[in-house]
Amino acid sequence: MDFVSGLRCRECGRTYPAEALHVCDYCFGPLEVTYDYQRVAATMSRERIEAGPRTIWRYADLLPVSDAAPVDLGAGFTPLVRADRLAAELGLGEVWIKDDTANPTGSFKDRVVSVALTKARQLGFKIAACASTGNLANSVAAHAARAGMESVVLIPHDLETAKVTMTSVFGGRVFAVEGSYDDVNRLCAELASEQPTWAFVNVNVRTYYAEGSKTLAFEVAEQLGWQTPDHVVVPIGSGSQLTKVAKGFAELWQVGLLDEEPSVRISGAQAEGCSPVATAFAEGTDAIRPVKPATIAKSLAIGNPADGWYALDAIRRSGGSCASVTDAEVIEGILLLARTEGIFAETAGGVTIATLAKLAGEGVIRPDERVVAMVTGHGLKTVEALSGTVGPTATIAPTLDAFAAAMGAEYELTDEPAPRSA
Ligand SMILES: *Cc1c(COP(=O)(O)O)cnc(C)c1O
Ligand SMILES: [Zn+2]
Repeated sequence: MDFVSGLRCRECGRTYPAEALHVCDYCFGPLEVTYDYQRVAATMSRERIEAGPRTIWRYADLLPVSDAAPVDLGAGFTPLVRADRLAAELGLGEVWIKDDTANPTGSFKDRVVSVALTKARQLGFKIAACASTGNLANSVAAHAARAGMESVVLIPHDLETAKVTMTSVFGGRVFAVEGSYDDVNRLCAELASEQPTWAFVNVNVRTYYAEGSKTLAFEVAEQLGWQTPDHVVVPIGSGSQLTKVAKGFAELWQVGLLDEEPSVRISGAQAEGCSPVATAFAEGTDAIRPVKPATIAKSLAIGNPADGWYALDAIRRSGGSCASVTDAEVIEGILLLARTEGIFAETAGGVTIATLAKLAGEGVIRPDERVVAMVTGHGLKTVEALSGTVGPTATIAPTLDAFAAAMGAEYELTDEPAPRSA
């Protein structure tokens, strides 16, 4: 049994039953899942959660579908890593990395897809489909395989090799579309109206899909001992993740899982080559002007973000900020995180870390704040971005002389014995 009370239009407030609906019939506003929070509060407890599976499904009471055997590859409950070396480099105090590179297909998208396909299967859909900037494609293809569903995935033709391979390997159909993500998304919206029997995870079941991102907030709070951070940095593609992180913290308070009312500043991170939300924030306007993306952060390259305005609104209400960083800064961000904490992030993670560094430098993120940065995808997905930047220190012949020559002045012979355990 789930605790969903229905769907509600985010614009006009009209309510709908919890079916495969995503826009309001009256005003075309997006729909949002609503819950009976009193019943959730009566059921959900810290103990009940802590006794649950080590996946997003430990928070099933605040997810839009209940299923004893969800479509599950083990998404969620990823490490929250204290990052003291990174914090020291940035002049910050308490910094944590939410390491979503550890998800089954290497990105946070496994959270949303596990929820979307569980609901889709329950609604009777047999085919899973999506428009994707890459990571969603990986995750939909993998979860569809797991669920025994067919998949139809549409991606821009110029994605990173790893993301294309990792989608194709699961046996679904993959279409590389000659156009940008925004072209792919428009094509998918047209397809969705022609193929109402297909579950397009980010079109006709988007309302449910989006709820999966709340688990990022749930986990962060639980992993901090049921406390919330002062500041979180969240990358923005469509803006869905950021709005749901805000909703997640608010819900924990609403159902009585926190001792103190949370006050979390939420800052958005974008790549300069695709920064419609950061631009609107900087200009102090409400209008998000669509752009033509040009950035190595392909997973965030959405020029016309569906939830852009809602993300902007959540940022402003929280007292957070929104910034954009250059591709060179993205690469520096990837290398900084890798060098200080041993975590290899994809370009979107580089965007988050570079934005964290930028906002710390500007004094927007302060040393007295407990900060969490959402690192949402694995670096092996975007190795192209680093070609020419990193590689072997030297290529050598298999001899001691060649090694010593390549080490150069740093290489000294020693008389000291090897360290031994006590
Ligand atoms: C999709 C994606 C995002 C952005 O999520 P939105 O909900 O579209 O804003 C961030 N990071 C990675 C790695 C992604 O794949
Ligand atoms: Zn409406």
